[in-house]
Amino acid sequence: MTTYVWDYLEEYAEEREEILDAVDAVFQSGRLVLGASVAGFEQEFAAHHGTEHCVGVDNGTNAIVLGLQALGVAPGDEVVTVANTAAPTVLAIDAVGATPVFVDVREEDYLMRTDQLAGVITERTSAIVPVHLYGQCVDMDPVTELAALHGLKVLEDCAQAHGARHHGRLAGTMGDAAAFSFYPTKVLGAYGDGGAVLTRDADVAAALRRLRYYGMEERYYVVRTPGHNSRLDEVQAEVLRRKLRRLGAYIEGRRAVARRYAEGLAGTGLVLPSNAVGNDHVHYVHVVRHPERDRIIERLKDYDIELNISYPWPVHRMTGFAHLGYAEGSLPVTERLAKEIFSLPMYPSLPPHTQEKVIEAVREVVAGL
Ligand SMILES: *Cc1c(COP(=O)(O)O)cnc(C)c1O
Repeated sequence: MTTYVWDYLEEYAEEREEILDAVDAVFQSGRLVLGASVAGFEQEFAAHHGTEHCVGVDNGTNAIVLGLQALGVAPGDEVVTVANTAAPTVLAIDAVGATPVFVDVREEDYLMRTDQLAGVITERTSAIVPVHLYGQCVDMDPVTELAALHGLKVLEDCAQAHGARHHGRLAGTMGDAAAFSFYPTKVLGAYGDGGAVLTRDADVAAALRRLRYYGMEERYYVVRTPGHNSRLDEVQAEVLRRKLRRLGAYIEGRRAVARRYAEGLAGTGLVLPSNAVGNDHVHYVHVVRHPERDRIIERLKDYDIELNISYPWPVHRMTGFAHLGYAEGSLPVTERLAKEIFSLPMYPSLPPHTQEKVIEAVREVVAGL
């Protein structure tokens, strides 16, 4: 049987009754859009973070789009982020009419180089989007300090960091607002698309509710543009309520796999993920690094292991972002990583025998290079 980096079927086999019960509860409720399940999930997700407001939206990309708009980011602004991220981070900035501006990432943990932020801030900069990539947080103090100094907003991209902590603080509680994705592969994943924005600010929350609902506060009257239809689906919200109760167990499961990989792959020459100071990692993707990455991936296919790369093309070098004008070599660490990193299978229900299969295969392949 082929092993992939992610699979949900073992988990579904375990949780099937509860998931189907969630679906049935919504279908029986008499309310299919913005009903009790979305409201309940919003309350529970906010409470989980000790934050005042959560607004459920249709996916993580739109969580960033609406989050930026609610924070007042406008067309023509510049928004600073990284190019070592999922393209949606940058597409969302583009979608609000702002210009993405990039800093490089750190050699040790592939996260935002906050020491480069000051050098790219201009009069047009209105926000910073730190991306808590792979399951651990960006060093947030320099980000929020610089933002305060320049009057900038901070929107955390938490799509890969549900439950991650930075010096004890949960991802999503450190900026002005935080965008989450519940795409199925994520640490907290729905059975389809979903997203949410967290904020402590009641006005930002009110703006988010309007933005996701056609620019309306009540039917059928548009009070302000822009407006979207970006609601979290009622069924996905009810599934997420059930799964939120297991988030701690999902994270523990991921940590156990990461520990086994660390033991099993020690001494191979692969660069294993590192934990940045003060970070509790949730291991969304298990990114390892080796200069012979492409050969390793190719040979692992003989062992029936199909690996993934997060991400094979740095965003600033994609054709779709050529207009931003970033030349080759402009973000050297980001560009080098894209050639050397790959991701090992990682999900909480990854069976122990599959973990052993991966370890053995990787050891053999690397030794035989
Ligand atoms: C998944 C992801 C997104 C986009 O979320 P969707 O729900 O797929 O729209 C944005 N940013 C990062 C870092 C992601 O990993």
